[in-house]
Amino acid sequence: MSAAEPVLKPDHAARRPHFIFTEEHERLRESIHAFVVKELAPHAERWEEETFDDWVFPRMGELGFLGLSMPEAYGGQGGDYPCNLVLAEELVHAQCGGLAMGLAVHTDMATPPILAFGTEEQKQQYLAPAIRGQKISCLGITEPDAGSDVAGIRTRAVKDGDDYVINGSKTYITNGHRADFIVLVTKTDPDAGYDGFTLFLVDMDAPGVTREKRLEKLGMHASDTALLAFQDVRVPASAALGEVGKGFYHIMWELQGERLIGAAGCVAGAQRVFDQTLEYARSRTAFGRPIGGFQVTRHKFAEMATKIEAARQMVYTTAWRFMNGEYPVREISMAKVFSARVAVEVADECIQIHGGAGYMREYGVERVWRDMRLNRIGAGTDEIMLEVIGRSYGL
Ligand SMILES: Cc1cc2nc3c(=O)[nH]c(=O)nc-3n(C[C@H](O)[C@H](O)[C@H](O)COP(=O)(O)OP(=O)(O)OC[C@H]3O[C@@H](n4cnc5c(N)ncnc54)[C@H](O)[C@@H]3O)c2cc1C
Repeated sequence: MSAAEPVLKPDHAARRPHFIFTEEHERLRESIHAFVVKELAPHAERWEEETFDDWVFPRMGELGFLGLSMPEAYGGQGGDYPCNLVLAEELVHAQCGGLAMGLAVHTDMATPPILAFGTEEQKQQYLAPAIRGQKISCLGITEPDAGSDVAGIRTRAVKDGDDYVINGSKTYITNGHRADFIVLVTKTDPDAGYDGFTLFLVDMDAPGVTREKRLEKLGMHASDTALLAFQDVRVPASAALGEVGKGFYHIMWELQGERLIGAAGCVAGAQRVFDQTLEYARSRTAFGRPIGGFQVTRHKFAEMATKIEAARQMVYTTAWRFMNGEYPVREISMAKVFSARVAVEVADECIQIHGGAGYMREYGVERVWRDMRLNRIGAGTDEIMLEVIGRSYGL
C-alpha cells in the first residue's frame, strides 16, 4: 500500500440526479419549482379551507405544465415521461396535497386515455383545451357500491338509435365539482364480462348530470370531491372513448400511469416532510441538546431515509421500464403500495419527532400525514396492490 494513496471521503451533500433525468429535466425542475413556490404555495392555507382556485389550470396551461409529455400537435411540450415525474415531485412544494391530486387527475389520469384511445375529433375537442387549461377534467370509475371491484360497477350506457343513454352514479370523484368533462366508465353489455365496458367523454353540463354532494374528508382538503348522478344522460355514439366493449382494459391501462405518478408524489412528499423535520431536529433542543442528537432520533432519520431511497429507486426504475414501452404491472403495483406506506410511515414519524408541534396545524406536518393517508386507498388500495402482485406469481 503506497503512503500517497488518496483518501476517499463521501460527499453526502452532492446532488446526483437519477439516470432517467437529463440536464433538460433539471432545468424543467427548476422552472416548475420556482413557479410552485412563487405562485401556488402562498395560497395553500386558504385553499385548505376553500379548495384551490380554478385559475391554476389556465395559468399552468399557459406555462406548458399541463401537457409536458403530450404531443405538440395538441399544444403539449412533446417531452417524455420523466417530465411528468418532475411535475409530480415539484408540486409537493406547494404544501397542498389536494392541489397536487387535482392536477394529477387532470394531467395523468383523465387526459392520457384521450391521447391513447381518442379520435382526432375528441383530441381537438377535449385534449387540446385540457392541455391549455381551458377545460378541466375528472375521471369517474368508483361508484357507491363498487370501488376496488371495478368490474362490479353499475352505471349503464344503453344504445338508443345513434345515441347512448347513461344512468348511474359515481362517487369520490376528484375535480367532480369543477370539471368541464368526465371520462366515464360504464357498462354497455352487462352479460359480456370484462368485454362489456365502455368509456365515454361526457360534458358535465349535459342534461341529466348532477353534481350531488361536496364530500367532506380527512385530508386533501384543497381538492373537491364529488358524488355525481347521471340520469338519462344522452350522448352521441361518437362520445365513446376507445373501442366499445374494451373500456375495462382501457381503464386498467390508465390505472398504471395513475399509480406510478401517485407513487412519485408519495416519495417526493415523504422527502419534503423529512427535510422539514431534519431542520426541526437540528434546532429544537431538549435536555440541553438538539433532539436530533439523541441516538433514537438519529436512527429514526436513518430508517426514514433508507425507506425513502428504496421507494425512489423502485419508482424510477419502474418508470424507466414504463417509458420504454414495457407494461410492468407487477412492479408498478409494488412501487405504489411501497411508496404509499413509506409516505404515511414517514409523515407519522415526523409528527412524533416534532412532538406537540407535529400535532399543530401551524407546522403543516399533520397535513402531510392526512393527505398522504389517501395514497393507501385511492387508485387501488394496499390490499388490491398486494392481490395484483400475489396473483402475478400464479397464486
Ligand atoms: C379523496 C379520494 C379521491 C378519490 N378520487 C377518485 C376519482 O377521482 N375517481 C374515481 O373513480 N375514484 C376516486 N376515488 C376512489 C378510490 O379509488 C376508491 O376509494 C378505492 O379504489 C377503494 O374503493 P372503495 O372505497 O369502494 O373501497 P372498497 O372496495 O369497498 O374496499 C374496502 C376495503 O376492502 C378491501 N378489499 C376490497 N376488495 C378486496 C380484496 N379482493 N381483497 C382484499 N381486500 C379487499 C379494500 O382494500 C379496503 O380495505 C377517490 C377516493 C378518495 C378517498
